[in-house]
Amino acid sequence: MKILVFSDIHANKTALKAILDEADNVDGYWCLGDIVGYGPDPNECVDIIKELPNLKCVLGNHDAGALEKIDIEVFNQEARISSIWTKSSLSDENKSYLRTLPEYCITENVMLVHGSPRNHVWEYIFDKTIAEINFPYIETQLCFVGHTHIPSCYFNKNNTVSWQILRDNDLIDLKDIRAIINPGSVGQPRDRDARASYAIYDTNTFSWKQYKINYDIHAVQERIINFGLPTHHALRLLEGL
Ligand code: ZN
Repeated sequence: MKILVFSDIHANKTALKAILDEADNVDGYWCLGDIVGYGPDPNECVDIIKELPNLKCVLGNHDAGALEKIDIEVFNQEARISSIWTKSSLSDENKSYLRTLPEYCITENVMLVHGSPRNHVWEYIFDKTIAEINFPYIETQLCFVGHTHIPSCYFNKNNTVSWQILRDNDLIDLKDIRAIINPGSVGQPRDRDARASYAIYDTNTFSWKQYKINYDIHAVQERIINFGLPTHHALRLLEGL
């Protein structure tokens, strides 16, 4: 099976539609959380994602924030403004859907989680040390995470962890190795590459192919500003930071 692996959509329907159009020949969809938050299209993004066939989806911290499952005081001021707007914009039906999302799930010998294996919604796997601490919490061979918005891979070979940033068209062979791997962010990238990020994972060959694609960033910036959301969230889209 070919699986579209994607994360951190952040209510950016233009970027979401672009990756779904580009990767239309897949057998399933694994979403690693943060469907909403920051962006102008929370309902549209939930509407699109919940209808995807063969979907596995986990809860992100911004999804939890919009549901008041977590205290949004921990967000910075702009994220808090966006979270309050998201909560008031989301339909009851879409809030109910987000409430059904698990904190992690296991499928095809892969653990799917937003943050990290030991702290499902909150912990960022930003470096080798944090990855190393997390490997014992993974019951499966592989773990796919989101949350940092940076496409990256941490390999564990004989308890030695190495890592790399993933770039467009990188092909990673995940056969017989333990790894924590992040497809980057669809709608709010932070790897200094403004394009939407996603990956295709092949469950038969254990290969991971990384992709980056262009989308109409200006259209999203315009909606963010028109809705009165923090301008910073519009500006940073162009920088990928
Ligand atoms: Zn996020």
